[in-house]
This record gives sequence, C-alpha cells and structure tokens, in this order.
Amino acid sequence: MAWFKRELKGIITTTEEKKEAPDGIWNKCPNCKKPLHYSEQVENQYVCHYCGFHIRIGSKEYFSILFDDNQFTELFGGLTSGDPLHFTDTKKYTDRLVETKKKTGLQDAIRAGVGKMNGQNVVIACMDFNFIGGSMGSVVGEKIARSIDYSIANKIPFLMISKSGGARMMEAAFSLMQMAKTSAKLALLSQAKVPYISLLTDPTTGGVTASYAMLGDINIAEPGSLIGFAGPRVIKETIKKDLPKGFQTAEFVQEHGFLDFIVDRREMKEKLASFLKMLAPVAPAP
Ligand SMILES: [Zn+2]
Repeated sequence: MAWFKRELKGIITTTEEKKEAPDGIWNKCPNCKKPLHYSEQVENQYVCHYCGFHIRIGSKEYFSILFDDNQFTELFGGLTSGDPLHFTDTKKYTDRLVETKKKTGLQDAIRAGVGKMNGQNVVIACMDFNFIGGSMGSVVGEKIARSIDYSIANKIPFLMISKSGGARMMEAAFSLMQMAKTSAKLALLSQAKVPYISLLTDPTTGGVTASYAMLGDINIAEPGSLIGFAGPRVIKETIKKDLPKGFQTAEFVQEHGFLDFIVDRREMKEKLASFLKMLAPVAPAP
C-alpha cells in the first residue's frame, strides 16, 4: 500500500519548478471578494455572478459588449493632447501623457466608434478611467464634438458612455471649455432631431456630470454607480449637514429625478437597442 504513503519527507518541489497559475486568469470581485474566472467574467459582461457587482471596464469592453460582433470603425483615433500650459505637478504633463499612453495603449481618456447595435447604426463615444482618471481634457471634448458632428451629418443616433473623475487639472481652463463646447454641440444634435442617449457608469463626477452626461434624451446608469458633482466630503463641509444614506449612488440620483433608468449591464444592449428603435424617425409614407 505504498501508493498513499509519503515516501519522501518535506516539500521537494523547488521554487523554480513550481507551476503558477497565469496572472489575470482569476480575479477577486471587489465587492463580495469571491473568486471570478476571467472567461466567466467576459461571458457575464464583467458583472459578478455572485453579488451582481458591476466591475469597472473600459471602452474596449463596452465596444465588445454593445457593437454587433465587436465590429466597428474607430473615429478620430489620431487626436492627442498638447500641453498648452506647460503644466508640471509631480511630473511634467507631457511625460505623464507618454507614460499613460504606453501603460494603457490608449491615446486619451475616450474612444469613439461607429457600428451597429442589433442591426441599427449607432455612434458610441466611451470614456476610459485608466487614462488619468478618465479626466475630461481638450481631446475628450473634441472627440465628443466631432462624434456629434458625425452623428448629425449621417443621421446616426449618439450614445455617450461616461466614466470620469471630472475635468483634467493639467489643462485647467481648456478642460472647462469642453463643457460648453459639448453642450452646444448636443443642442445642435437635438435641433437636427438625432437621438442622444447618455449612459453614466461608475464613477461619473465633476464637469462631466455637469455637462454632457446629464443632457441625454434618455439618461441611463449602471446599478450602484457613483454619480455626483463634488465629492461628499466637500459638500458636507459646505452645507454643514450630514448627508443622507446612499447619497450619490445611481439609485439615489434616480429617486431624485436625474436619471430615467438604471439598467443591468447584462441587459444593456437589448435595452439600448430598443430605445434606439423607439427613437428612430418614422419613415414617410410612400
Ligand atoms: Zn461579487
């Protein structure tokens, strides 16, 4: 019966011989801490199947979820930030941009694309939080403005997916100008009677909330997202009052009339496609 007897004492596998599971195959749900397998996550559209927590994802993932067969044409991919203020904080802004581009493989905190969603044309602009906190600088504003122009010229509905810490400090006033620019462009989109759906994801704050994110014909959010303008500490110190429970969650914001719907990411494509169908212009009678 030697087969169940440990014949050698001690652990004999050397560190070099140990087989490690490749990195990134398993992740922990940030909310319930249960292990999630990467392929399951993709299948479940990056929602924890234990607790329903919506894991933060970027434009690559949103595009793969929303565009039919992940087929789309990227728009205005070549736009990159300048450094008009020669800004330096802990490091030079130009160096920070080079590093962040290398680390994320992105050109800025937004990507735009045109493709089909359940067979209907749609332009999607989606922010990336990995790129300097999804901050809104001149490139973010310009890509949104040009995407809207594209939507108007081609009569294709526009979907904006926001995920942002607010305006980009390193571009100061140039960042703030994007609020007015994008809002004005959205007014033109509305005049052209082209639908605009805004999807707010975790987190949507600052100047983004105060401009294009809240201007949709329909404003939708993912469950549990942080949505607000200033952070809770700043507000508390300003109004000298305790804030209510659940303050600045999507659910709270919806209850107070700022959102139309909260939609689970697993049903997002179906819901968005049905809204597009409802908003589509009726073809004139032959
Ligand atoms: Zn979970």
